[in-house]
Amino acid sequence: MPTHGGGPGTTLATIERLIETLRAEAGDVPLAAIGVGVPAIVHATAGVVGEEAHNVPELAGFPLARSLSERFGLPAFVDNDVNALALAEWRFDAGRGARSLVVLAPGTGFGSGIIVDGHLLRGAHGFGAELGHVPVKFDGPPCWCGGRGCLALYASGRGIADAARAHATGASGRALREAAGGDPARIDAPLVFRLAAEGEPVAAAVVEDACRALGAMLGIVINGLNPEVVVLTGGVAGAFGTLEKRVLGAAAEYAFKRALPDTKIIFAPGDKRSSMRGAAALALYELEQR
Ligand SMILES: [Zn+2]
Repeated sequence: MPTHGGGPGTTLATIERLIETLRAEAGDVPLAAIGVGVPAIVHATAGVVGEEAHNVPELAGFPLARSLSERFGLPAFVDNDVNALALAEWRFDAGRGARSLVVLAPGTGFGSGIIVDGHLLRGAHGFGAELGHVPVKFDGPPCWCGGRGCLALYASGRGIADAARAHATGASGRALREAAGGDPARIDAPLVFRLAAEGEPVAAAVVEDACRALGAMLGIVINGLNPEVVVLTGGVAGAFGTLEKRVLGAAAEYAFKRALPDTKIIFAPGDKRSSMRGAAALALYELEQR
């Protein structure tokens, strides 16, 4: 169900309707728990959505887990959507059996999830595992998160589109402008990837920066955490999949020489169903932690 299918401010109603529908479809199958992944900072222990909930502002500060638990009489667990996705990759998919796994998920923004030694890393206050907002260029431009030089500026859909738009004003940006029908606001990441593949130099430079930024992040991940598996997925991951060699070539500039080949790096095109399985993986993970 589309989150805001009922209009702005209807997220909670949508979630409740979805759970009711699933419960009806489950029939006699007993339900163990409810899991919810939210595109926001989430205080998972308390089950409360943080104030940084730009996609679902009506949930900011809301005790979602308690509300759902009381309404449906089941244990309910809430976490960041990419943390949930990492649990799904770990339990059901590419990371099965691994003790440590990092998910890098470039979409509109840049999400990530970290599992180390069999535990989901959340940090002390829910801000952990936000690798999209780790700087890959210390003197880089300001980021929408308040920091600067973040990975998301270079390798997320929004960052790639913004970078291309910034170049679309001058004479060198003519091809980009024309491809966007003369309106720089219509430049998006798929257009930039397409033009880059066709050899348009401005788009190619933006995509090259994206590959290098991802390579630097792989260096941070491998040298900082040394995980068994890294899964690159999310809305923009399909485009990076065709650039795998370049991303790994960049990673080789930053990661320990002996550690990189021992790291299983999987490029998996984004699939909404993986995120949804994340809700189930979160519930199962939390039940097992008890
Ligand atoms: Zn940032």
